[in-house]
Amino acid sequence: MEEQDKTLFAMDTWFSLTAYGENAGSALDAAEREVRRLESLFSVTDPDSELYALNHSGGLAVAVSGDMAQLLAFSLEMAEETDGRFDPTIYPLLTAWGFTTQEYRVPGQSEIDQLLTLTGYALIEQTEKNVEIPEGTQLDFGAVAKGYTGDRLAALMKEEYGISSALLNLGGNVQAIGRRPDGTPWRIGIRDPYGEDMLGVLEVEDAAVITSGGYERFFTGEEGKTYWHIIDPATGHPADSGLISVTVTGKEGAMCDALSTALFVMGVDGAADYWRTHSGFDMILVTEQDELYVTEGIAEQFDVASPQFSIKILNR
Ligand code: ADP
Ligand code: MG
Repeated sequence: MEEQDKTLFAMDTWFSLTAYGENAGSALDAAEREVRRLESLFSVTDPDSELYALNHSGGLAVAVSGDMAQLLAFSLEMAEETDGRFDPTIYPLLTAWGFTTQEYRVPGQSEIDQLLTLTGYALIEQTEKNVEIPEGTQLDFGAVAKGYTGDRLAALMKEEYGISSALLNLGGNVQAIGRRPDGTPWRIGIRDPYGEDMLGVLEVEDAAVITSGGYERFFTGEEGKTYWHIIDPATGHPADSGLISVTVTGKEGAMCDALSTALFVMGVDGAADYWRTHSGFDMILVTEQDELYVTEGIAEQFDVASPQFSIKILNR
């Protein structure tokens, strides 16, 4: 079967897209256009984006596009469902820690306390057409936009181009369409949070595989403590739950993406509780103590490569 590949830089990372079949080339061209379109809506830094305008609306109600309405509604739902562990309003805190500029710093507690008054998903008012954000509060879809984009690309390529086999890698967030051209499942490598090697390989078909790791973007403070870009919205500090990596897999990329971040904040016990009370996903958790937890739904599909990990299977 004909294979086509495309690499592009978007959403602050490299996308590498592979598709099979007659229409693979035109499907990938359409996918690229869709990525550019979504990026021009959801970029938090581009002064021409829809999100930028919304974040700088001076506290007034603003009419939003259908995509914006959809992603925001979904994000507010996930925030509610995860008890605010996923929160699309932590951007002012992310900025204070220097993660948006790479000028890293540890903010003082009074600065964090002041910024916490500007954050919290309950501050966002969304009606059918309008969104109202208080002055100083800022939305950021950094934890969910790539998953959402993966969903949109998969739907576009399947429905409009008849693609039944493709692998979309959105900066480490993977969206698999169908199976490999030879009919076997896709084999997705999961990165070892402590090194360049592979933690293991997960076999999937028609699913997203999304990892949030403390190793992705971080800095080390003067006292040797590591600070990373996943913020605990309850404290305003980088999450410190004992987890170092969370991989979530399921049919819906946007949900997997939001959850990879939220479960990272929750820690092992919170994540296991959440998994037991919610359907639609499985997960792989790695702790700072080299423990590896895998939910029973994917235990058979996951092959560990790193021998140093002790594996525990989570049951319903
Ligand atoms: P990555 O961007 O490495 O794939 P994530 O999906 O975990 O990893 O997203 C991290 C990004 O999400 C951060 O850069 C920031 O923009 C945003 N973020 C950080 N903490 C939270 C949180 N608790 N809730 C929602 N978004 C967050
Ligand atoms: Mg995420």
